[in-house]
Amino acid sequence: MSETADSRETIKSSEIEPSFKYELSKMHGGEKILRCFQCGTCTSDCPVARFSETYRPRTIIHMAQLGLRERVLKSNTLWLCAACFTCTDRCPQGVEVASVIRVLRNLAAEEGIAPAVFKEQAFCILDSGYAYKIPELRIKKRETQGLPPLPKGNPKNLRKSLTGVKFLEIIKKEREQQNEQ
Ligand code: SF4
Ligand code: SF4
Repeated sequence: MSETADSRETIKSSEIEPSFKYELSKMHGGEKILRCFQCGTCTSDCPVARFSETYRPRTIIHMAQLGLRERVLKSNTLWLCAACFTCTDRCPQGVEVASVIRVLRNLAAEEGIAPAVFKEQAFCILDSGYAYKIPELRIKKRETQGLPPLPKGNPKNLRKSLTGVKFLEIIKKEREQQNEQ
């Protein structure tokens, strides 16, 4: 997976999938992507872009508009968005920037392309019902402080309600393959 939005790498014509933007425009949240005229307001108001040298929502929208499907789905920067929706509120063209990013993340996840940290988090949810593993030390410390025990997660019910989620099916297969090695 690439470290940056890869917008500076030379684009090969073989990378371009012209129908990609139309595909996105048919998805919930992606409908207005064709309206973007690259003014850069989303980037200038984005709190994450302010502290990152690589994260640029405008560039993500541009790559998607250009049809750079694989490049944008494989970009690590896609996962930096904090979903604060400032960009969506400020876009003069009414592009739902944050929603487009969500749509792109969903597509990437469906193809099993997600940073390892999110895969680990998904496993943790499936295993324990919690988004991260609570260290034993912390559980013991609660006891010594006289705090009540944490509510138990219900991974069985969670797994049941998440049946059929493509991303989870893919990462479960990945884990099985890892265990076989
Ligand atoms: S603010 Fe809207 S029109 Fe301007 S670059 Fe961002 S998405 Fe495009
Ligand atoms: S929703 Fe994401 S892209 Fe938009 S302003 Fe917030 S962090 Fe930036």
